[in-house]
Amino acid sequence: MNSALPTTLADAIGASNGSPPSPERLRQWVRAWIAVNLPAEWRDITRGTEEGKAVRIRRAWGAKLAAAGLVAPHWPREYGGAALGIADHVVVLEELVAAGAPEALNSNGIGIFGAVLLRHGTPEQRERYLAPMLDHREIWCQGFSEPSAGSDLASLRTRARVEDDHLVINGQKLWTSFASQASFCYALVRTTTDGPKHAGISMVVIDMGAPGVTTRPLRNIAGGSEFAEVFFDDVVIPRDNVVGPLDEGWRIATEALVFERGLSFSERSLRLTRELRTILALRDEIAERSDIDPVLDERLLDAHIASRALHSLVLRVLHLIDGAEGGTLASLAKLQWSETHQHMLSTAIALLGERAGEPAHQEWLRSLLFSRGETIYGGTSEIQRNLIAKAIGMPGSAPSATRGQTP
Ligand SMILES: Cc1cc2nc3c(=O)[nH]c(=O)nc-3n(C[C@H](O)[C@H](O)[C@H](O)COP(=O)(O)OP(=O)(O)OC[C@H]3O[C@@H](n4cnc5c(N)ncnc54)[C@H](O)[C@@H]3O)c2cc1C
Repeated sequence: MNSALPTTLADAIGASNGSPPSPERLRQWVRAWIAVNLPAEWRDITRGTEEGKAVRIRRAWGAKLAAAGLVAPHWPREYGGAALGIADHVVVLEELVAAGAPEALNSNGIGIFGAVLLRHGTPEQRERYLAPMLDHREIWCQGFSEPSAGSDLASLRTRARVEDDHLVINGQKLWTSFASQASFCYALVRTTTDGPKHAGISMVVIDMGAPGVTTRPLRNIAGGSEFAEVFFDDVVIPRDNVVGPLDEGWRIATEALVFERGLSFSERSLRLTRELRTILALRDEIAERSDIDPVLDERLLDAHIASRALHSLVLRVLHLIDGAEGGTLASLAKLQWSETHQHMLSTAIALLGERAGEPAHQEWLRSLLFSRGETIYGGTSEIQRNLIAKAIGMPGSAPSATRGQTP
């Protein structure tokens, strides 16, 4: 190990007399830190990597990033961050993506529920949950969707009965990513049945090891089982596990969904540009042997234009994430990222033609299959279009309070 290299972001900041290093120096330090700390076999892990192995790598990498202060560098110092500004945070993300680093396993928990706790959690909740979330001792999953409540999230039926100092939970969640690995679930439950359906919902923390919690993995289209269905049968949680005021979970969930579309998808949007470069290299390789259909070249050009626009959009979203405009732009970025990604991967398959079925190219097919979920999770494309339509005064097709929408 290079002894002159600060091992943590805090040390790197200390080495610049306590003030954040310039973006260029920060970039150099992050790059050097990654070169020392990211094992070659963890770079660019493929979709075909055995699921258990991929989870182990992503968890171990998340822990390493946390130890260096790099997993949430924009968080306040007292909770394990370095209070970096957005521009500096983007520098960190860009370097991680450029090196082919895997996404930290808890990135959803940190980017969505961590941000919620920083705003709405009690001091005790922050103290209890944030540190083990950052350092990947405890993995988190999101329990929002149910069999009859996806886009129409406010129709959720999982009930929580309030009894003295505890709540008793009964119901079912669906498509819960990483439920099998999770120690905790941040979930939406119905605490009151009277009134409009978006009212009477609360956000709670559920211990996934508690008696009455059953997790059943589900197979996805690519053959993996990243998500699961989760059943709650008389699961008892302390009253202190309610986040924010009782019955006001809808407002908090709406914020959480903006964080999901903004912060969580930013890294994936940056990854798209890197993936496009690989497809362009594939195109050049194919062009040495055969003519390329001009329609496919046009689609690649469009993907490049979309990726550049997306990059600017992501920077803007990160700056505006706290305001109403940030919410709409986050929907726009999510829509742009997920649809561009699918088009780009379909183009890769079309370029390969019959060779797409060869073992050497299976990864493109797997990526395309995985990408089918991208226009669904975090709110479908139709729902994003509804949110954008509403923001510009158009009617949209949503009757009321759908996923991410204030009624
Ligand atoms: C890979 C993956 C991971 C996921 N991980 C999680 C997770 O960790 N936690 C979690 O809570 N959920 C998760 N989900 C669930 C996801 O959020 C929902 O699938 C999504 O919100 C859509 O809900 P639904 O499946 O019930 O579809 P539906 O809401 O039934 O929608 C079906 C179709 O109807 C369209 N539609 C519905 N309402 C409208 C409307 N008002 N206007 C126009 N069109 C409409 C939709 O766009 C869609 O095309 C995940 C999903 C996937 C695919």
